[in-house]
Amino acid sequence: MRIIVVGAGPAGSTAAETAARLGADVILVERRMEIGSPVQCGGFIPEASELRDLLPDAVLPETLVEIPERCILNRTRIQRLYAPSGRSAEFPVAGRCVDRRSFDRYLAHRAARAGAQLIVGTEADVRGESIHLKGRREGIIDADIIIGADGPSSRIAEAIGAVQRDEPGICLEYEMVDVDIDRDAAEMYFGERWAPGGYAWIIPLGDDIANVGVGVRRSYIRGEIDLPLILRRFVEEHPHAGRILRKGEIVAVMRGIVPSGGMPEIIQSGRFLLAGDAAGHVMATSGGGVPLAMVAGRIAGEVAATHARGGDLNVYTQRIEKELGAPLRGSVIIRRMVDRAMRSDRSIDMIFSLLDPMTMKDIQRGRLPAPLERLRSMFTL
Ligand SMILES: Cc1cc2nc3c(=O)[nH]c(=O)nc-3n(C[C@H](O)[C@H](O)[C@H](O)COP(=O)(O)OP(=O)(O)OC[C@H]3O[C@@H](n4cnc5c(N)ncnc54)[C@H](O)[C@@H]3O)c2cc1C
Repeated sequence: MRIIVVGAGPAGSTAAETAARLGADVILVERRMEIGSPVQCGGFIPEASELRDLLPDAVLPETLVEIPERCILNRTRIQRLYAPSGRSAEFPVAGRCVDRRSFDRYLAHRAARAGAQLIVGTEADVRGESIHLKGRREGIIDADIIIGADGPSSRIAEAIGAVQRDEPGICLEYEMVDVDIDRDAAEMYFGERWAPGGYAWIIPLGDDIANVGVGVRRSYIRGEIDLPLILRRFVEEHPHAGRILRKGEIVAVMRGIVPSGGMPEIIQSGRFLLAGDAAGHVMATSGGGVPLAMVAGRIAGEVAATHARGGDLNVYTQRIEKELGAPLRGSVIIRRMVDRAMRSDRSIDMIFSLLDPMTMKDIQRGRLPAPLERLRSMFTL
């Protein structure tokens, strides 16, 4: 019984390590020459105590609970949100700002040490019932189970007809140095001028270094999307962020997309399972996907390995639903509600004036405040 895992991001390496530890024959295929590079992430991962509250029904992989210190660049204590008016609100969130390049490598090393075979620099594709490899390794490869952990533009998802719901977020991010940031706070900035249909962020990586990015959605922008212009405007002109970022230098430019519409209807079909971004396992309210990708990868690895001993692959969807279903659905419903407000700065300002910071924290975690519960059915999938 052979399992092929496509994609060595957090979902794929976790799936490969889990299945290999359970005794399965695992091949992990990654199209990049270098696992983890280029980075397409802000690197913000809440501490385990926060994750237990965010994902109360999930069993967190040990690799998410205890991240090696060498992968952690900084720790934050608070999350601060800026309204278009400039008003800010903050609440406590203990966070780890990780170097994704070394974190992804660490996860891949663990998968390899557990017994998974790694093939890098090789792209996998589905043709009929077979997996075709192209790159450093060429040809057809047989597998009994295929785990598609190949990110937001997943070929495996496409092959099984899993369609992402809602439009994705489109992101551009700079790593900047010589910026005057608050290293205790991860910050989100809202407003039509700074991040139409999304938000801009500053994630402090320690000292004077930060990931500074912007995520927007197509339907909120008239004409062509000029992300470099939008991010430059944020860095240079935002009344608060501009002051602390303007004199900094860009040392890296990263692009990527974030599936923010929740899970597609299908995340398993026959011997194919999807995990992580490929399956829309992302909190739609924040775009954070690493913790969910790792939980989903762990479940995919367990289900695949137990299938070898007569287990049923169809339990995959139920197991994901049990561990991640409620926060994922809650976050999509809230994002859809907030989408209406995103059409006008005045309504976002109003939300900031109506909600206390701890309610904002709940909302970001996909939990609806009681007075809004009755509107849930209007926004369900
Ligand atoms: C700009 C930006 C900032 C973000 N910031 C954060 C953040 O701060 N915190 C957070 O939690 N989340 C963040 N996210 C989201 C987070 O990066 C993803 O949710 C997370 O990486 C998902 O992990 P994954 O393993 O599912 O997919 P990925 O990390 O995308 O890994 C997929 C892997 O599959 C490989 N692959 C793709 N196709 C193939 C193929 N055909 N054959 C072989 N290999 C293939 C890719 O090369 C890649 O290595 C951010 C996303 C973006 C775009």
